[in-house]
Amino acid sequence: MKIAVFSTHQYDQDYFDRFNTGHDITYFVLPLNEQTVALTAGFEAICIFVNDTVNAEVLGKLEANGIKLIVLRCAGFNNVDVVAATELGIPVLRVPAYSPEAVAEHAMALILTLNRKTHKAYNRVREGNFSLEKLMGFNLHNRKVAVIGTGNIGKAFCHILKGFGCHIHAYDVYPDAGLAAQGVTYGTLEETLANADIISLHCPLMDSTRHLVNAQTLKLFKQGAMLINTSRGGLINTTDVIESLKNCHLGYLGLDVYEQEGKLFFHDYSEDVIPDELITRLISFPNVLITSHQGFFTKEAMEQIATITFGNVDAFVGGAELNNRVSV
Ligand code: NAD
Repeated sequence: MKIAVFSTHQYDQDYFDRFNTGHDITYFVLPLNEQTVALTAGFEAICIFVNDTVNAEVLGKLEANGIKLIVLRCAGFNNVDVVAATELGIPVLRVPAYSPEAVAEHAMALILTLNRKTHKAYNRVREGNFSLEKLMGFNLHNRKVAVIGTGNIGKAFCHILKGFGCHIHAYDVYPDAGLAAQGVTYGTLEETLANADIISLHCPLMDSTRHLVNAQTLKLFKQGAMLINTSRGGLINTTDVIESLKNCHLGYLGLDVYEQEGKLFFHDYSEDVIPDELITRLISFPNVLITSHQGFFTKEAMEQIATITFGNVDAFVGGAELNNRVSV
């Protein structure tokens, strides 16, 4: 197929070139949105990532340009109007699980860094400062961790937590019997958030989960709790979280995703004025750690993403069952 791949970086091109099963690929650095959709003229399929926008307006233009297939090279699909795509008869395929461990391990990396402050220790020692002042952390052993969403990534994260000797409390609309049998305690969202030392978000972004962490639910958090979000930025009301950090109620914040990340993440603003007031405020807190959506970014995950993406295209071309189709 003739495929337009949007929001690409050199690493995307390297892996897609290695695992291409014979398709005619054109890489665009630009994201797909209302301004760039004209670039899809002459293509049969598009391949997009987390911060591309496929809303009803974009879909109308994709259909007019003859696009027959949308492949997401990621798991989340909150950026695609799947209902509108289905009405237009354009299948949306995704990579439902490429390496859940990649994201789960990154969530643990955020926890360990925030807790034991290794990022600060690294800089101190490089400057000849061997003081331990203000570097004190806490044992993860016996701590209560709340896991919101126990699908592929949440489950992998629970397995990591078990190794650290944590007490795992979870909330999911579909509790996992296997995890429950391994000692994970399921409760309501409120029960799960209350009294947790660490809360980690692993559910998808949908209307029902948007701003799941807000002024009201933050009140349920234990004073000094740590919040980790490696799922989607929209799960958190950033303004409310900033207030909680300012009031010293929320103790730590680790983010790999951010609601307004589309205009920031994957770009170098090191010599520019950062065009976002909330993230600059977040960066100013000593107990906030932000990475720019790199949870997926391991060799194993990139191989799986490329392999499954081309497998999805091949299934469509060959008229096979579309196992990775996003259903409405
Ligand atoms: P998954 O579909 O396997 O699991 C999601 C789980 O959330 C399911 O068990 C589902 O029942 C549960 N859920 C649905 N609605 C819920 C609700 N209202 N409250 C609580 N739980 C709910 O997905 P996954 O592969 O584990 O991925 C989870 C999310 O991680 C994705 O939606 C994506 O947004 C994000 N993600 C981030 C990165 C990254 O690089 N940071 C990479 C991949 C995925």
